[in-house]
Amino acid sequence: MDNFIYQNPTKLIFGKGQLDVLPNEVKQYGTKVLVVYGGGSIKRNGIYENVLAKLKEIDAEVFELPGVEPNPRISTVRKGVEICKREGIEFILAVGGGSTIDCTKAIASGALTDVDMWDVVTKKEQPGDALPFGTILTHAATGSEMNRGSVITNWETNEKHGWGSPNTYPKFSILDPTHTFSVPKDQTIYGIVDMMSHTLEHYFHPATNTPIQDRFCESLLQTVIETAPKLQNDLENYEYRETIMLSGTLALNDMLSMGAHGDWASHNLEHAVSAVHDIPHGGGLAIIFPNWMKHVLDDDNAWRFKQLAVNVFGVNAEGKSDKEAALEGIEHLRAFWTEIGAPSRLKDYNIDESSVEEMAEKTVAARSEYGNFKKLTKQDSIEIFKASL
Ligand code: NAP
Ligand code: FE
Repeated sequence: MDNFIYQNPTKLIFGKGQLDVLPNEVKQYGTKVLVVYGGGSIKRNGIYENVLAKLKEIDAEVFELPGVEPNPRISTVRKGVEICKREGIEFILAVGGGSTIDCTKAIASGALTDVDMWDVVTKKEQPGDALPFGTILTHAATGSEMNRGSVITNWETNEKHGWGSPNTYPKFSILDPTHTFSVPKDQTIYGIVDMMSHTLEHYFHPATNTPIQDRFCESLLQTVIETAPKLQNDLENYEYRETIMLSGTLALNDMLSMGAHGDWASHNLEHAVSAVHDIPHGGGLAIIFPNWMKHVLDDDNAWRFKQLAVNVFGVNAEGKSDKEAALEGIEHLRAFWTEIGAPSRLKDYNIDESSVEEMAEKTVAARSEYGNFKKLTKQDSIEIFKASL
């Protein structure tokens, strides 16, 4: 294992009816509250009204930033920062999915500095302190409710980058599985692909002696694979929603990276795709991940792919080389994602060869090589994108 320090300060508040604790949690930080949310789903499903009623119990002075986009934009971050500074906001409450939470992290940080947050997102400037913020999660996918990461897009430059700091962990996150009942089937599936991809990113790491980490990843994947097809046909089933919601959090709350630093090349590749084409993150990952796997598979690392194939997908490896078993596992992953309705080719989003070069360039904009399990260059990006067309 690699040496590590583990410290995750987010208080996780999980289960039906847990919105009741909101007033007590918020009032520790202040009563001037900015509520950040997306395109309106929380108004249609009633969560907005319930949240406002809870904030009324502590006589909070509520300000609002609606309209956070899927793939949240730096322009929206700047609007939020402006409100915080102008109104002297004391606490920010994100109500939504990963996009709303990621945007909130950037607003919280931007509120306490004069530096433009795009310079922080692109790592030209260091992030400083941040306003305290909490989340009410309405979509199981990113794990942003219990991690420090934030992914922000700039449509002026067609760039999408992740950043984070020790100050961008939510103070608390309220996870009520009933809040995810109204997530439509396609978004539910994208979330499932994203949490499986986070688990797979962790699984492909270069550290040695990681039996605990590997088994954690395998059991999370097995659980999601068991539950997703049932949930797909029964979107308001509490137990399925509950299992998927906890899986999404555990897949990216730092637990799986104890002692082993995962790969993250597939996320880098996907961010390049959605920076140019604004497609759903989970949809992009379903296309890219199996092609990344085939691209990096070699004789030295095939044992790890085979371990995944056997332990998660039940591949019978008898009489097969490691590579043969590995490829069978990759096909199982592809078939599973196709079966639950995820896309498998870039052309499903009308993306063709003409943007391969531009997307590949973006994968190496920040550094000439990327990926932790296997180092990749721009030429690798081109090959993976071409295989994904
Ligand atoms: P999202 O973009 O937050 O939400 C996707 C869609 O689902 C939106 O249209 C949203 O509608 C809708 N939705 C959310 N909750 C709903 C509900 N309860 N009922 C009905 N519709 C609902 O999706 P996400 O996958 O959670 O976040 C994606 C972003 O996170 C991407 O930018 C990705 O790159 C990033 N990401 C971050 C991390 C991290 O660690 N921070 C990790 C992976 C990915 P409304 O807008 O109307 O609410
Ligand atoms: Fe992701």
